[in-house]
Amino acid sequence: MSFEVFFRILLGIKTVILLQVRLGLKQTSNKYPEWLDLLLQSKFFMPCLNLKHEELRRGEINVFCIDCKACLCQHCFATPMHSGHKQLQIRRYMYRDVVKIDDMQKLMNCSHVMPYTLNSAKVVLLNPRPQATKPPTKSNETGPNCMRCERMLVGLNRYCSISCKVKHNQI
Ligand SMILES: [Zn+2]
Ligand SMILES: [Zn+2]
Ligand SMILES: [Zn+2]
Repeated sequence: MSFEVFFRILLGIKTVILLQVRLGLKQTSNKYPEWLDLLLQSKFFMPCLNLKHEELRRGEINVFCIDCKACLCQHCFATPMHSGHKQLQIRRYMYRDVVKIDDMQKLMNCSHVMPYTLNSAKVVLLNPRPQATKPPTKSNETGPNCMRCERMLVGLNRYCSISCKVKHNQI
């Protein structure tokens, strides 16, 4: 085998690897929106930093502007700066941040995330609920547990929260 042939084969292998890497990246970015990490790390229901808004009723951060990737209060979101932007409304359930499944399902696939009922709407937790005791050790019980954090679940669900679904599928 001449050096030239060897070099061409080497180049071919490199192209295939590069292609696979690119395809892999594309697949993960298609699966979950790129702003999701930011949403999951954000703190909501803090007072709005705009002092005028803090005085108004509901001047607390409970909107995520998807176009700006920013956490806002309703008054901030209502300004012309965000006109026509897509928003995600964050709600409170048992002191945790939740979103309506109907809202979230338009943005990512929420299947297998355990739903809760809030004012007759189905909602899902953004992040797992705090756990007082240590996670249960793996047992032979058939009861469903979150695939990521092993919190107990009800029904045929596999994840306790959006965060657990995303993290479990990224591994
Ligand atoms: Zn505001
Ligand atoms: Zn915006
Ligand atoms: Zn979990």
